[in-house]
Amino acid sequence: SVIAERVLQRRSLQMHNKQQDWQESSEGQKMLEFRKSLPSHDARETLLRTISQNQVVVVSGETGCGKTTQLPQYVLESEIEASRGAACSIICTQPRRISAIAVAERVAAERGEEIGESVGYKVRLEGMRGRDTRLLFCTTGILLRRLLVDRNLKGVTHVFIDEIHERGMNEDFLLIVLKDLLPRRPELKLILMSATLNAELFASYFGGAPAIHVPGFTHPVRNYFLENILETTGYRLTPYNQIDNYGQDKLWKMQKQGLRKRKTQIASAVEEALMAADFREYSPRVRESLSCWNPDSIGFNLIENVLCHICRKERPGAVLVFMTGWDDINSLKQQLEAHPLLGDPSKVLLLACHGSMSSAEQKLIFNKPEDGVRKIVLATNMAETSITINDVVFVVDCGKAKETSYDALNNTPCLLPSWISKASARQRKGRAGRVQPGECYHLYPRCVHDAFADYQLPELLRTPLQSLCLQIKSLQLGSISEFLAKALQPPEPLSVQNAVEYLKMIGALDEKENLTVLGRHLSMLPVEPKLGKMLIYGAIFNCLDPIMTIVAGLSVRDPFLMPFDKKDLAESAKAQFSACGFSDHLALVRAFDGWKHAEREQSGYEYCWRNFLSMQTLRAIDSLKKQFSYLLKDIGLVENFESCNICSHDEHLVRSVICAGLFPGICSVVNKERSISLKTMEDGSALLHSNSVNAQEAKIPFPWLIFNEKIKVNSVFLRDSTGVSDSVVLLFGGSVSSSGLDGHMKMLGGYMEFFMKPELATMYLSIKKELGELVQK
Ligand code: ADP
Ligand code: MG
Repeated sequence: SVIAERVLQRRSLQMHNKQQDWQESSEGQKMLEFRKSLPSHDARETLLRTISQNQVVVVSGETGCGKTTQLPQYVLESEIEASRGAACSIICTQPRRISAIAVAERVAAERGEEIGESVGYKVRLEGMRGRDTRLLFCTTGILLRRLLVDRNLKGVTHVFIDEIHERGMNEDFLLIVLKDLLPRRPELKLILMSATLNAELFASYFGGAPAIHVPGFTHPVRNYFLENILETTGYRLTPYNQIDNYGQDKLWKMQKQGLRKRKTQIASAVEEALMAADFREYSPRVRESLSCWNPDSIGFNLIENVLCHICRKERPGAVLVFMTGWDDINSLKQQLEAHPLLGDPSKVLLLACHGSMSSAEQKLIFNKPEDGVRKIVLATNMAETSITINDVVFVVDCGKAKETSYDALNNTPCLLPSWISKASARQRKGRAGRVQPGECYHLYPRCVHDAFADYQLPELLRTPLQSLCLQIKSLQLGSISEFLAKALQPPEPLSVQNAVEYLKMIGALDEKENLTVLGRHLSMLPVEPKLGKMLIYGAIFNCLDPIMTIVAGLSVRDPFLMPFDKKDLAESAKAQFSACGFSDHLALVRAFDGWKHAEREQSGYEYCWRNFLSMQTLRAIDSLKKQFSYLLKDIGLVENFESCNICSHDEHLVRSVICAGLFPGICSVVNKERSISLKTMEDGSALLHSNSVNAQEAKIPFPWLIFNEKIKVNSVFLRDSTGVSDSVVLLFGGSVSSSGLDGHMKMLGGYMEFFMKPELATMYLSIKKELGELVQK
């Protein structure tokens, strides 16, 4: 070990000399000058001192003040200066892989090195690190996984957790694990970095750790909301109820005819103005209406108009457009590329910035374009805090974001966009004032902004508990309830217990709370476990396509429109799809397939119009189905989609798979003379929601209805439902492996008071057991 000590000393000396050489070179001097201009530089000594005197430190500071690139680097430099360079090991986590790579490259450049020398990175499936790497940027998921095999983080001297204000699930998980670890590793330093001032929460979680704030400077930014924007782009916002019949008629006609390019553009700008106006009317209940104003629709034409306005009328400066994800960035980019002005590369440099872009693309984002060319970057909310583009003067904010994924190990993107918080809107606006006063265009009315939540709820509290519990198990974090009780903001213990019971019943956890094979697969699917189970059964029983339609429909929203004044017509349109199938889910499949067919015949719009269907929702379902199929292929559940669909036309089978997923969402059906009586296991009698096709029927020829969701108002209402037979419930409801045959009999006994002969039941159950084993494989 004396030799090892010597080697360490020699390496530390080499690092020291190398650092000094660079800092004395002319390029190094220039870089140092830039770094000294960052606000964090003034706090350097305080920071280093506080870190050396405390085990945990919380640092907050405006985005761009130099937290990510500077703080870990200060520690590295000071360790090197103290001739401990080779002995230190600093880890800095990033919520997103792309920022881990970008930051590592930047820090290496600031140190005059190639990536993989003293600075490296590691993200899923990719990494650049060498023998001398002492500062490693990695995703939070990577550090979590390392903790699985290396519980004490042997050899690590400093851990920085970045962007904790985002309250991502991985970061919250990591905090729990590290809090446990700190007493075991007294010499390990933990530094938490946040873009906002709410540092107290974190500081008190770690027993009153010191908090340091780095003051920053930004220029003022002017805010525009939809009402202002529409005026500047030539439209006037008219409350919907003030439009006369003629105006409404004209609008409907324009939509109906789906006029070509130019006219559609006008129509949809007007339409957007109307949707916004609709809000004003509801403003006392704006929070509710937020969910009605379709959050996954983003007005591409509106964005196009705003961008044109900026390019034609405004001073030079880059534009940053906040979108929700890779797919809408791509479609918008395509649309803009076809535009005479915005698509002209001699005037506009159009770039995308999202998690899956190449590193060549990534570099372009930071470059200055040639004179006279305006840079427009279409970005996800990644550009809110983790990536700073210096020359941005204009920000366009669509007001929505896809919430970050819950899938810790696989980093699977979460699927649905939703409204951002006031804090995010402020953050987006701030991005315009880095170098000079800027402008921010919010593409929603001010009243919508006022209804945003102040901060986004932590991901841990917004992820469905059942999915959360699966995650804890798949990360091997021990007992679910014990683990969650230690969180920064823990969920209700009773809800946790219910979730665990549920997971046992559907066969995702065994009696001892261990993850089953089914559970492992479910933890890799970014949908609720019941929907995931449906997908898996759909794949096994070769009726994947209709099942994907149903699951996508249940994840997005109902595409059947029920306008108040035309409810009768709309109901009979929906009833046609049901065609006495006694299933809302099958009606959805037929409506969707009909629309796909109509699209191929170029009559999709008329089809939706005639059948009271929302085209936007159908499109969202379609795109979600595509994402499901990539995902199922990626995790190896499906190899060949053709063979997974040979039974797709068998509606009995599809019913059974629906039952497999939604069980125990089940109620018994008793047809009476004049009415139908429904009973669920927990609540007693229940009623059908009036939008359900089954609500229209006088008699339901099935003993059971399977449903996705029940709502308790005065009575219990069931939303979508599907009729199923006794044998289907016996074979597909619940899981045998979890409760054993006897347990299962007992449970079903509660449902099937009148159940048939015991021998028959035993036979069914043994078939079911085999089936269960098949699924667990
Ligand atoms: P924070 O983490 O506080 O938001 P960063 O450390 O990411 O700030 O960035 C500090 C500054 O470094 C930014 O304002 C920007 O000027 C500069 N910077 C960061 N990354 C790059 C890069 N890849 N290229 C050029 N400059 C960069
Ligand atoms: Mg940062």
